[in-house]
Amino acid sequence: MTFIVAVRYFLIVGAAWIYLYSSTPASWKSRQIYEKLPGRDIQVFEIKTSLVSSAIFGVSGALLGVLWELGWARFYLKFDAYGLSYLFLSILLIAVLHEIYFYLTHRLLHEPWAFRRFHAVHHKSLEPSPWASFSFHPVEAVIQAAAIPLIVLIVPVHPVVLIAYLSLMTFSAIINHLGFEILPKGPIGSHMAKWLITGTHHARHHRFYKSNFGLYFTVCDRIFGTEYVAKAASRVTATFAGTPTSSGSSQ
Ligand SMILES: [Zn+2]
Ligand SMILES: [Zn+2]
Repeated sequence: MTFIVAVRYFLIVGAAWIYLYSSTPASWKSRQIYEKLPGRDIQVFEIKTSLVSSAIFGVSGALLGVLWELGWARFYLKFDAYGLSYLFLSILLIAVLHEIYFYLTHRLLHEPWAFRRFHAVHHKSLEPSPWASFSFHPVEAVIQAAAIPLIVLIVPVHPVVLIAYLSLMTFSAIINHLGFEILPKGPIGSHMAKWLITGTHHARHHRFYKSNFGLYFTVCDRIFGTEYVAKAASRVTATFAGTPTSSGSSQ
């Protein structure tokens, strides 16, 4: 399982890296979030820590099998057991629960004692590359890896839906650390950026620490007042050379 997680990480991140980092296509240059792409040393650090996290995520995958064997995980095998629309609804349900779990644990990891010991590893990447997607201290990786096993104790889910969700989760993590903004430019992109988290939103978290804690949606940051506001951090806004599209786009 660990092998599958690590290979998937290398294949997807590697493809994104070759396409955008080895020689950035002209059409993507205006989408680059940082003035300069991350250096080699920090990328090597991100890969090393991500490999350890991959091992922990692999154990989490095996744990899902154990929970299934024990009858604790609410997996079902008949596609229409809850109606076909539930297949899509269950993805959304898992994403919402995961969002809440991630937001709360992420806030906790920013408590000074936890940040110093654990979360500083992820924030070593002030301007992350896609290799940072899994770059966590082992304790943080365990916290992240626990989310899905906990959620499947509550939410009935078909294994195929879970595989689709895990793939979505990996893509989202890579998009958030891509260093390039994927949302369309203009009003549609700006509107989407109000609700969806992508590279620009998460890059601000890596840079400014005290805002933008969410995973997929900006809802928790909005509810708890941690959404990034440009004025509050104006002294460092020059760091970003790209075209931020979420709130605070006046940078
Ligand atoms: Zn953080
Ligand atoms: Zn990050």
